[in-house]
Amino acid sequence: MITSFNPATEAILAEYEEYGNDQVEKCLARAAQAQVQWARTPLAERLALFGHAARVLRERKDELALLITLEMGKPLAESLGEIEKSAWNFEVYAQAAPGFLADTVVPSGASDSRIVYDPIGLVLAVMPWNYPFWQVMRAAAPVFAGGNGLVLKHASNVPQCALAMQDVFRQAGFPSGLFTTLLVGSGRVASLIQDRRIAAVTFTGSTPAGRSIAATAGQALKKQVLELGGSDPFIVLADADVDAAATAAVKARFQNTGQSCIAAKRFIVEDAIADRFVDVFCELTRKLVVGNPMDAASTQGSMAKRSLRDELHAQVVASVKEGARLLIGGKAIDSPGAFYQPTVLDHVTPGMTAAREETFGPAAAILRVANATQAVEVANGTPFGLGAALWTGNADLARKLSREIQAGAVFINGIVASDPRLPFGGTKESGYGRELGILGLHEFTNIKTVWTG
Ligand code: NDP
Repeated sequence: MITSFNPATEAILAEYEEYGNDQVEKCLARAAQAQVQWARTPLAERLALFGHAARVLRERKDELALLITLEMGKPLAESLGEIEKSAWNFEVYAQAAPGFLADTVVPSGASDSRIVYDPIGLVLAVMPWNYPFWQVMRAAAPVFAGGNGLVLKHASNVPQCALAMQDVFRQAGFPSGLFTTLLVGSGRVASLIQDRRIAAVTFTGSTPAGRSIAATAGQALKKQVLELGGSDPFIVLADADVDAAATAAVKARFQNTGQSCIAAKRFIVEDAIADRFVDVFCELTRKLVVGNPMDAASTQGSMAKRSLRDELHAQVVASVKEGARLLIGGKAIDSPGAFYQPTVLDHVTPGMTAAREETFGPAAAILRVANATQAVEVANGTPFGLGAALWTGNADLARKLSREIQAGAVFINGIVASDPRLPFGGTKESGYGRELGILGLHEFTNIKTVWTG
C-alpha cells in the first residue's frame, strides 16, 4: 500500500494499492503512444497548452496547496507559493521555448550546418516530497516543450499530490498519458529505467538513491540528470551588510522547515563580524513560530517524516558532543507530529557532523573563519556542490571568489533559489546535468547535427 499520511497530525489521509505489473504496462503503453503524437504536434500548439496548465494550477491553487501541506507538513502560505511558482514556470517556458528550440546555425565549410533539437521520448521522473509540485513541474515543462512525455514515480509519502498533478494536465487538455503518475515504490524504479520505452531519467533526492539510479541507468545506457543533496555554504565576509545577511540567512536556512536541497546549511562567517551576525541570526530565529502548518501564524511546520526528524536530532546531538555550542533549540517538540525546534549551533568546525553531513531540517551550523581565503576553503571542504551564497560589499572580490567556489550556482548578496530562466543543478556529489533554463530543455532532446554538402 502507498499511504498518504499527515506528518503534522499523524492521521492517515488515504491509502492506495501499489500499481501491479498489468497497470504499469498499460500506463507505459499509453504514455508512449501519447508521446509519439505529441512529438508530431507543432510547437506552437504544444505551448498553447502551457498557458492552460498555468491557469488550471492557479484556479485550483487553494485545493492543491492544501494537499501539499497535508501530505508533507509545510505552512500553507509556502504551499501556495509553490503552486504559483509552478504556474509561472509554464509561462516562462511557453514564452522562451521557441527560442530555446530554434536551430543553431554553425558555420563549418558545408553549404549549411546546424544543430537541431529533437524529442527523445519518455522521461522517467523520480521525485522527492519536499516541493512535491515544484520539483515535478520544473521537470515537466522543459520535457514537454521538447516534445517528450513524462512518467512520474513520486515519493511514496505524497501520492495525492502525484495524482492531482495528473489531473491538472488532463484538465489543461494535454493528451491523455503524456503525464503519467505511477503509484509504485522505489523497488520498481530499476525495471522502469530498463524498460525500452523509457529514454532517460531525471532524479531529485538523496545522494544514495542517486547513486543507485545512476548505476542502473548507466548499465542501460540511458541519459540521467541527477539533482542530489547539498550542504550549501552561506559566506559572510567582514565587509558585508551584516544585518541584511543575517536576515536573509534565517530565510535561507528555515524556509520549507529546512528541508530544501539548496537551503543554506553552513554559515561561514568572518571572525570580525561573527558576533554581530550570530546576534541578529539568533534574534530572528527566536521569532520563528513552529506550529500547525494550517495556521497562518506558523512560519515553521512539521518535518515531513519522523525518521528524518530523528536523523536531524542525532546530527545535532553528535555536533554538540563534538564541541559545537548549542545557542537555540536542539530538541524535538513533544507533541504528535514530526516537529523540531529551530536550532542554531555556533562554533562548528569542519570536522563536526553538522558540517560534514547534509542537515535536512531546521538546524543551522555557524562556522567562524579568519578571512575570505579560509572561508572559500571551508566552503569547498564538503563532498557536495549544489549552491552557495556569498555576502560582501566588494563586487570585484565577489566575482573572483565566485569562480573559486565549487558549486552549481553562486548567489552574491542573495539567497540561492531556483528560477526557470536560469540553469539549476550541482557538481561533485550534488549530481550532474542541469534543470531549467535553456540547458534544462536541451538535456532531454536529441541534439542533432544536420550537415548539408
Ligand atoms: P530519497 O532520495 O530516498 O527519495 C526521493 C525519491 O527517490 C523518492 O521518490 C523515493 O521513492 C525514491 N527512491 C529512494 N530510494 C531509491 C532507490 N534506491 N532507487 C530508486 N528510487 C529511490 O529521499 P528521502 O525521502 O528518504 O529523504 C532522505 C534524504 O534525501 C534527505 O535527508 C535529504 O538529504 C535528501 N533529499 C534531497 C532532496 C533534494 O531536493 N535534493 C529532496 C528530498 C530528500 P520512495 O519514496 O518510494 O522511497
